Amino acid sequence: MARIVMKFGGTSVGDIERIQRAALRVKAESDAGHEIAVVVSAMSGETNRLVDLTRAAAPMHDAREYDTVVAAGEQVTIGLMSMALQDLGVNARSWLGWQLPIHTTDVHSAARITSIETGEVIRRFGEGQVAVVAGFQGMAPNGRITTLGRGGSDTSAVALAAALKADRCDIYTDVDGVYTTDPRIVPAARKLDKITYEEMLELASLGAKVLQTRSVELAMNHGVRVHVRSSFSDEPGTLVVDEEEIVEQQMVNGVTYAPNEAKITLRNVADKPGVSAGIFGPLADANINVDMIVQNVSEDGATTDLTFTVPRDSLDRTRKVLDGVRETLQWSDMTADPNVVKVSIVGVGMRSHVGVAKTMFQALAEKGINIQVITTSEIKVSVLIADEYTELAVRALHTAFELDAA
Ligand code: ADP
Ligand code: ASP
Ligand code: MG
Repeated sequence: MARIVMKFGGTSVGDIERIQRAALRVKAESDAGHEIAVVVSAMSGETNRLVDLTRAAAPMHDAREYDTVVAAGEQVTIGLMSMALQDLGVNARSWLGWQLPIHTTDVHSAARITSIETGEVIRRFGEGQVAVVAGFQGMAPNGRITTLGRGGSDTSAVALAAALKADRCDIYTDVDGVYTTDPRIVPAARKLDKITYEEMLELASLGAKVLQTRSVELAMNHGVRVHVRSSFSDEPGTLVVDEEEIVEQQMVNGVTYAPNEAKITLRNVADKPGVSAGIFGPLADANINVDMIVQNVSEDGATTDLTFTVPRDSLDRTRKVLDGVRETLQWSDMTADPNVVKVSIVGVGMRSHVGVAKTMFQALAEKGINIQVITTSEIKVSVLIADEYTELAVRALHTAFELDAA
C-alpha cells in the first residue's frame, strides 16, 4: 500500500467528461488499496476569467479581495470531482484550503505555504476516504484566503505530498511529461524519462510552465518523488529525481524561453561607487524583480551604460521608481524595450563540458540573431534577444545541442 497525491491541472478537469475520466484514474489507485489525496486546479480558462473580472471591477483593487475571487475556481472543481468519485462508489470529500487548513504567509496572490494540517485527512484515510483538496489556495495567519501565484496547484500538490509523507506525487497534465523544450513550439521536442530537480528548477524558473517553480523547490527540499504524466494516456511520464539517479548526463537537457521580460537601458550613468546601489536598491524596495544586469566598461572613466531586465508588467512601475532617483544619479537618457525574450539552455552536464556557450552563440549567429544580454550560472546560459526570433532561436538551439527527436 502506498500513499499518493494525484494532481490534475486545468485542462485535465476542463469539462465534466474529463473530470469523470480523472475520477476513474483516482478510483483505480484507490481500488488498488492506496491512500489517495487528489489536488485539482480550476477548470481550464476559469482562473483567467476570474482575474479579468477583478480587473473590470476595479483596476487598483485590494489584493485580499483579488484572492477571494480567483480562489473560487478550485472550489467548483473539488466539489465536482468529489461528486464524480462518489458516483463511482468511491468514498470522497472535498477540502478548501482554509478547511484543512493549508497555512500560508499573508503575501496575497503570491503566498507561500508554511504548514499543512493533515491529521483529519490521515484519520479518514483509515476509513478508506479519498481527500479532494483545492489547489492554488490557502489561509493567511489572520484567516483570510490567499493564493499561491499562477500555476500554484503544482505547489499545493507537492506541499501536501511532503506534509503527508506521501510515496509519490503524480502531476497529471495535458502533455505526457517534461520535454526538452515546449512541445507546442518545437514538434521535434523529446520527452525526458528523468530530469534532475536542479534542471527542472531552472527550466521552470526560466519559463517552462509545466511545473510551478516553487513546487520544484519544495520537491527538492523534501525529497518528494514527482512524476509528471498525461491525464489522457497511460504512457509513463517524466520522473524528477536526484542527480545520482541519472546515469548518462547530456550536456544540455532543455531549452526554454521567458517572454515576459522588458529591457531598460540607462545611458551615461556616473561611474562611481554607490550608483548601482542607488538604482537597484529603490527597485528592490518597490518589489521589482531585476533579472539580467550588464554594465559596460566605462570609456571615459566618468560615465557608463547600464542595461537590465524586469518583468514586463513591472515596466511602468520601474520607470516611475527610476524617475524618482534621476536627480541624484543623473543618467542622460533611459530607454525601455518590452519586445525582448530570454532564451536559456539548461543542463547539469555543463559542469563537466566546455564549449557550451560557444555552441549556443554560434547557433544563434548562424540564424542572424543578435544577442543583447548574456547571463550564466553553473548549469544554464541565458541570452536576451528580440522576441520576434523566439521560435527560430529555440528551434536552432534544440538542433544545435542534438536534442531533436530521431
Ligand atoms: P496544467 O493546467 O496541467 O497545470 P500547464 O498549462 O500549467 O498545465 O502546463 C503544461 C504546459 O506546459 C504544456 O501544455 C506545455 O505547452 C507547457 N510546457 C512548456 N515547456 C514545457 C516542457 N519543457 N515540457 C513540457 N511541457 C512544457
Ligand atoms: N488555477 C490556477 C491558475 O490557473 C492554479 C493552477 O492552475 O495551477 O493559475
Ligand atoms: Mg500548471
